[in-house]
Amino acid sequence: MNKDSHALIANEQVYITICVGENFKSIAWKAQYDMEFSSECLFCSSEKITGYRVEDELGHAGKIAICPTCEKVNAVYH
Ligand SMILES: [Zn+2]
Repeated sequence: MNKDSHALIANEQVYITICVGENFKSIAWKAQYDMEFSSECLFCSSEKITGYRVEDELGHAGKIAICPTCEKVNAVYH
């Protein structure tokens, strides 16, 4: 049994693959509402963005901030 090679595979791709500027995919990312931010959207003139807990397609969990107006990802937190 080679335990070392197993550990290497487990350490790959630990970070969520969602990027700033992507369109919000609430169902694919299993989005759960987290909190509101009083922060200006990077992509439109909206003055509020919404935080969600999400999981990307590979199962990595993280938090993102979405603009409710243009539905683009404004921030990704690992
Ligand atoms: Zn926006």
